[in-house]
Amino acid sequence: MTSHVTSQMAPIPFIDVASQRARLGARIDAAVSAVLESCRFINGPEVTLLEQQLAEFAGARHALACSSGTDALAMILMSWGIGPGDAVFCPAFTFCATAEVVPWVGATPVFVDVKPDTFNMDAASLDRAVAVAKAQGLVPKVVIPVDLFGQAADYDAILAVSESHGLKVLGDAAQGFGASWRGKRTGSIGHASATSFFPAKPLGCYGDGGAVFTDDDALVPILKSVREHGQGVDKYENVRIGMTGRLDTIQAAVLIEKLAIFEDEIAARERIARRYNALLADVCTVPVVAEGASSTWAQYTIRLAPGRRDPLAEALKKDGIPTAVYYRIPMHRQPIYAQYPSDACPVAEALCHEVISLPMHAYLDEATQDRIVAAVRRALA
Ligand SMILES: *Cc1c(COP(=O)(O)O)cnc(C)c1O
Repeated sequence: MTSHVTSQMAPIPFIDVASQRARLGARIDAAVSAVLESCRFINGPEVTLLEQQLAEFAGARHALACSSGTDALAMILMSWGIGPGDAVFCPAFTFCATAEVVPWVGATPVFVDVKPDTFNMDAASLDRAVAVAKAQGLVPKVVIPVDLFGQAADYDAILAVSESHGLKVLGDAAQGFGASWRGKRTGSIGHASATSFFPAKPLGCYGDGGAVFTDDDALVPILKSVREHGQGVDKYENVRIGMTGRLDTIQAAVLIEKLAIFEDEIAARERIARRYNALLADVCTVPVVAEGASSTWAQYTIRLAPGRRDPLAEALKKDGIPTAVYYRIPMHRQPIYAQYPSDACPVAEALCHEVISLPMHAYLDEATQDRIVAAVRRALA
């Protein structure tokens, strides 16, 4: 009886890294040990193997492992030579890193609104933002659609607007690696893509990591040079400004093991998300996946009427159920980003007051999910 009470009250993890470790721990420990034995901590053979596997998984010609999702975005902008006077279009509703890399290279982020159903970039707002940028004397160069909360962006509409303005498309698949748009996986859409292997992302390592994807053969040597301090053909010749952008061999070894079960985990996430949708659709606005898109459910995010979100978070916290708000402040209202141009972003602004994310991971069992659902229904009754 005591144990029953305990399980009803025990805190639930928001993202359960430990359950996956229970499944894969021995394999990962062996893979890491092998790297420790080899002492090839930088550019070991596991990095090359992982890159081949990632490219195959995404359906891209090339994958380059790197130090983080943020660095992956930056490496692409650097390799394209984006700089002062250039406009880079970013959603107003995203994690800050999408836009952060733009001032790194001296370019100007320009914010674009999102769609009320999928929370992904709105192509009509992108079109307006291009006009805003031009009116300020900027040269429109790149758009960074984000696969927010795991769902592939509306690439048909974004590619059409991008083509009409000659923009390069850089997919930010940090949350949506493994998702697809009309049968094409993120990483294989647009001119180049970036993803993150931060532990809480759908495919995470045991520290920081990321990858760049592209079908552009000519871009690959430039990306590799940027990743290693702008090295030339000779390692000690520097031909451009670069960075320390490599992925550690140990992290590559961890990712090889995790990638092997990633399809299975994506299927589990899909099943869990559908179950949440079925059990919650009558009490809140549940997430919508657009026709032609799939999601890896980096977050399971519901939407509530204004004023109801924070009381729900408080009530769930009392029941031992963690929640998170992604995001409380739209990018164009952030203290450091408010100086940059933006289209009007009323949808992003409303979402910041109305969204809340519930526990979501591939190992969420039905009993725990039932407990979460019951608590949400009680709080919203
Ligand atoms: C996590 C994230 C990033 C950055 O990835 P890091 O590996 O943490 O640098 C970029 N964009 C989005 C949308 C993200 O969610």
